[in-house]
Amino acid sequence: MIRFDNVHKRYDDGTHAVEGIDFEVEAGTTTVLVGPSGCGKTTTMQLVNRLEEPTEGTVHYDGTDVRDLPATELRQDIGYVIQDIGLFDHMTVGENVATVPELKDWDRDRIDDRVDELLDLMGLPSEEYRDSYPTELSGGQRQRVGVARALAADPAVILMDEPFGALDPITREELQDEFLDIQSELDTTIVFVTHDIDEALKMGDRIAVMNGGELVQYDTPTRLLDDP
Ligand code: ADP
Ligand code: ADP
Repeated sequence: MIRFDNVHKRYDDGTHAVEGIDFEVEAGTTTVLVGPSGCGKTTTMQLVNRLEEPTEGTVHYDGTDVRDLPATELRQDIGYVIQDIGLFDHMTVGENVATVPELKDWDRDRIDDRVDELLDLMGLPSEEYRDSYPTELSGGQRQRVGVARALAADPAVILMDEPFGALDPITREELQDEFLDIQSELDTTIVFVTHDIDEALKMGDRIAVMNGGELVQYDTPTRLLDDP
């Protein structure tokens, strides 16, 4: 689904953020990139949706070099959730969730149904929340809207960068559990970034451990625990 071939990323200031990683994200799995702050997780993820370009090596998406795919098309196929999700504050919750389906020219009824379905799924009953504004919601509720927005247009892949990082521990655990439930019903491929090994082991089918820009281990959670 997503393949990294000897990928390097050097930023303009000389920082060697990613130092030759090779691995494949298998379709339908949740692959967690885990490692200490600054080890290159975010950069690695941003090489997938072309927010960053490799300075060496190639990232393939469905067998095609991502450089050969139009960035706009790629980003409609790949949902992105970040810690400080960046909801559009001047738009209602429903309008936020509808952003990508609208870009894709879905018809109105299909968009409305999808928004209702996702808000309900994320524990924000649509009739109560779709006309609210993001500023009226708690941090946990905003993060739920962010996840709903990323899922809205049935993306093939979702990239999640510390999606629950800013939440208090209880809300965080609630959202992790809800997301695991949702994930078991989707066949979406998920790449999940966290610095928290417990979160990685809980959320991932595959764990990619990074350190200093390198991929130091790649395995299932069970095998990783057997052979730390
Ligand atoms: P992580 O997600 O694991 O915290 P990042 O990929 O954000 O790691 O960063 C990896 C390294 O690259 C860090 O040293 C970081 O400071 C550096 N870095 C990230 N973005 C940039 C940038 N735009 N310009 C220069 N250095 C950067
Ligand atoms: P994270 O730890 O979640 O990767 P950071 O706080 O490292 O996030 O980075 C936040 C933003 O700042 C990113 O867009 C990253 O590209 C940028 N950034 C990080 N480190 C540097 C740096 N040394 N120089 C310039 N930009 C950076």
